[in-house]
Amino acid sequence: MDGEPDLCIGGTWRHASDGGTRDIVNPADGSVVAVVDEATPDDARDAVAAARAAFDGGAWRATTAAERSELLNRIADLLQRDKEDLAHLETRDTGKTLAESRIDIDDVTSVFRYYSRLIGVEADTLVDVGDPAVISRVVREPIGVCVLIAPWNYPLLQMSWKVAPALAAGCTMVAKPSEVTPLSTIAFVRLLDEAGIPPGVVNLLQGSGATLGSALTDNPDVDFISFTGGLATGRNIAATAAAHVTKVALELGGKNPHIVFADVRDSGDWDAAVDHVLTGVFLHSGQVCSAGTRLIVEESIADDFVAALAERAAAIRVGNGMDPASETGPLVSEQHRAKVEDYVALGISEGAKLVCGGARPTDAALADGYFYLPTIFDRCDRSMRIVAEETFGPILTVERFTSEDEAIALGNDTEYGLAAGVRTSDAARGERVVRALRHGTVWLNDFGYYTASAEWGGFGKSGNGRELGPSGLAEYQELKHIWHNTAPTAAGWFKN
Ligand code: NAP
Repeated sequence: MDGEPDLCIGGTWRHASDGGTRDIVNPADGSVVAVVDEATPDDARDAVAAARAAFDGGAWRATTAAERSELLNRIADLLQRDKEDLAHLETRDTGKTLAESRIDIDDVTSVFRYYSRLIGVEADTLVDVGDPAVISRVVREPIGVCVLIAPWNYPLLQMSWKVAPALAAGCTMVAKPSEVTPLSTIAFVRLLDEAGIPPGVVNLLQGSGATLGSALTDNPDVDFISFTGGLATGRNIAATAAAHVTKVALELGGKNPHIVFADVRDSGDWDAAVDHVLTGVFLHSGQVCSAGTRLIVEESIADDFVAALAERAAAIRVGNGMDPASETGPLVSEQHRAKVEDYVALGISEGAKLVCGGARPTDAALADGYFYLPTIFDRCDRSMRIVAEETFGPILTVERFTSEDEAIALGNDTEYGLAAGVRTSDAARGERVVRALRHGTVWLNDFGYYTASAEWGGFGKSGNGRELGPSGLAEYQELKHIWHNTAPTAAGWFKN
């Protein structure tokens, strides 16, 4: 960053092997906020080789769980010490509000604290094989060299969901943040040096996925790839990794339904329901994998509910994330805004009714940034591409239902299955609907929350594997069954 080398390979910070760099742009005003090294495929091969050597050398994986637990805690302390700096980097890079970035860094910290605790209490599983002479146990061992690829919407948070369990398990790794938002991850890896992570355990590359992708994923020295990003990229990575039978975990996109029953009107939950639907879709300008982008609302309240939403959506203060008055920031890049604008044009051409937004803000102070107004389309149905496809922008589509079965059918009518919300004051109905929905996280009378101690991941084409929780650690571990006969005798199978 700004003349300092940004690639970390085998414990040495270095520039790209061909001297290449990339401008990092602040999406709030289009200014260049940093120039970072852009790794080449050769750098990628070096980084995997360094991670392989650090793993095969054995010293890191021989550390005790207690030692790694302590290291993770130290990292959490350093994250809190540097919280303001990291939050500022995240906002300059992604455009999100500083308030959101501060929450992100707290969440990153909690992930390290959680895995620090979990690895400290993990124990072998003893198995009774029915023979008192045999001690049988299943132990967990690190899976090996991991490639960790993260997206741009929650750069450090998504990376922490991978780095923390990988370190806890005793793995070595090559981390690749998104090419457009690498700043917080560079600062974070410097902080890992300070925490005392040995050379070669965490290697860092910045650069385009298209260029580095195959050097990282089409590599027999890699044991596990953890990827968070879009469906198309996930498919590519899975296909490439299959040639080496490399294990892959995919956290992909979502098209998440938020189902609202009419009973919210009389239960006193109306305002909170409107608020959660609004926040669920427009937080971070919709650039959230679990954003509740499909409102599925009971017909009898639909007109009033959409009107209440539109009134609040129009009042959202869109602006520079550094300005404390801003409630949501820009889209991440000009290219991404163009994609969102294409979806809005498509929605109109598909016959959806534009209720609000559908344009860039007119405020001249925002003209150089990639801002877009919160947008609501009513009268949508599942045949429309704006309902079926992930737009990853501030676009809410509205569908209506008249029965519980129809609401469930609509909620499940997606190729994705990442997250869903259900709003009802009827507890029995709430339980029926959350169990019927085929999504990895379902919120009942809430939306958007998660915790490091519970699993996160998708059904359907939202991916496979799980991050966070005990399963998020298990992804980075191999299970080994050790059968120890304490009183060996001949097997006696062959007689001569
Ligand atoms: P993306 O375009 O798929 O990129 C994700 C990461 O993959 C980036 O680091 C990208 O690098 C890299 N990449 C691209 N092509 C690659 C290849 N052939 N081989 C290896 N790596 C490659 O996704 P995005 O636009 O950054 O992120 C948005 C997507 O992420 C949305 O679909 C969103 O739903 C999903 N997401 C899912 C979750 C979840 O928990 N399920 C969480 C957050 C985001 P470059 O950027 O350098 O090209």
